[in-house]
Amino acid sequence: MSLIPPHSLVTEFLAQEQIASFIGGTWYSSKSTIPVIDPTSGEVVASVASAEASTVDQAMQAADKAFPEWAAMPVSDRAALLKRFAGLIRENLETLAQLESIDVGKPIENSRGFDIPFGADCFDYFANLSNEAEYTVPLEVNDIDAHVQRKPYGVCGFIFPWNFPFTLFCWGPAPALAAGNTVVVKASEVTPLATLYLGHLIKEAGIPDGVINIYTGEGRACGQPLAEHSLLKHMSFTGSPQIGKLIGKICGEHLVPCKLELGGKGAALVTQDADLQAAAEGLAGAITLNTGQVCCTATRWFVHSSVLDTFTQLVRAELEKTAIGSSMDEKTQMGPLVSETQYDRVNDYYKKGIAEGAKVVVPLTTPTTTNNAGYFIKPHLLTGDEDNICYREEIFGPTAYIVPFEEEENAIDRINRLSYGLANSVWSKDLDRATDLAGKLIAGNSWINAHNVFAYGLPYGGVNLSGLGGGVNSPETFYSYLRNQTIARPL
Ligand code: NAD
Repeated sequence: MSLIPPHSLVTEFLAQEQIASFIGGTWYSSKSTIPVIDPTSGEVVASVASAEASTVDQAMQAADKAFPEWAAMPVSDRAALLKRFAGLIRENLETLAQLESIDVGKPIENSRGFDIPFGADCFDYFANLSNEAEYTVPLEVNDIDAHVQRKPYGVCGFIFPWNFPFTLFCWGPAPALAAGNTVVVKASEVTPLATLYLGHLIKEAGIPDGVINIYTGEGRACGQPLAEHSLLKHMSFTGSPQIGKLIGKICGEHLVPCKLELGGKGAALVTQDADLQAAAEGLAGAITLNTGQVCCTATRWFVHSSVLDTFTQLVRAELEKTAIGSSMDEKTQMGPLVSETQYDRVNDYYKKGIAEGAKVVVPLTTPTTTNNAGYFIKPHLLTGDEDNICYREEIFGPTAYIVPFEEEENAIDRINRLSYGLANSVWSKDLDRATDLAGKLIAGNSWINAHNVFAYGLPYGGVNLSGLGGGVNSPETFYSYLRNQTIARPL
């Protein structure tokens, strides 16, 4: 094992007595702090300001004040600032990647290769889209001269979870900002580091003070006051269905438009004619990516009974090859779970699943690591009835539940029976058949011969228990941050 040395900017950032909130272009400390724990070691690596309702109010006031100037700025100037910000993210890739990996426990090569650069691309994508968008749309109406003007809403609020803090920060605010809104972001209190570091780059990019405001803290103390704030014009929440429903209810009471990106319990349908090696690699990769803490990952594997044994052997071999270790080791493919809470949660599900009758295919064990600290577990697989808790509920760990099937149509019905609807995949060499089956799965996303497929221009969102409001990453996302205003004059 060889760990990369921490970047000097990372050491300096973490050493602060308190990493403050970034509001109105200034850093604000709080009376109390929250410890940030490196899940690889279980040790505290930093303290962040714990925001309160007064911090939220300050952020909302700053965003509201900055809105008229940002909204009135020529689109090309606004886009140029966002592209400059994207450029600075790329220039600071190593610092941001290290902060993200230390915080979440994700392998440094993943942060360097995906989370940070893909996040930067998001700002470029929406900046380009804003330059090409039409803001005045003429209407053909008898005896009325009319058109629609597309205008930004005002202050947009964002609440984020802990699993992909940096990427989600980009997926959420980038379209809102490109459309001329200002934003207030409540980062997860579990993994706030890279998001808060962005305050420095926002300043350096020359984005006007108050356009982007970032803080963190406990959900009820500083998430709820954001959703309830009278200056809020648009809300976006990413996290669990439980808290998502609460945010949706608050927004409903205040009549504030709300996007919800929630949890999932995705399925993979491995047909009789699938390329079994490719499916095994793809699905082992899906449950080990980010240690299985991925909302859209495949955690229910429907495998045709005629190929079940071969597929299971291939998957087991893939899982055994996964290099588990420190997030700061370049050879690591899977790091620890994000926190002790998450470690206990996964273990608890495993015990309950077995107590309810699930059979172990690959057991959950704790790997030996250098100091035997941190929240490490090995990938594991279960099988059994579909009324088992591990089949029904989102576990958020490196695990899947295998279910054999005989008839594809019957498997589709069973997959669709759960109320989640985020992402599923179909594995088959017959692409017409695969496309037909993919269309029958009820979810925001159906992938073919792959799982976890992301690109800008490819809409990503959930239905039913997995989300509401149209999702992210597409032109529709950009337009969802513009309200329509009809201007009409009878002739
Ligand atoms: P969570 O719902 O517990 O917390 C999400 C955020 O909400 C955190 O910032 C938290 O502080 C805040 N929060 C908690 N209570 C609140 C309250 N009463 N009022 C306002 N805010 C409150 O979720 P989590 O455990 O951080 O993340 C895991 C969940 O996120 C999983 O269900 C996962 O599937 C989901 N997720 C979904 C997507 C997607 O794109 N659909 C992406 C990533 C994660």
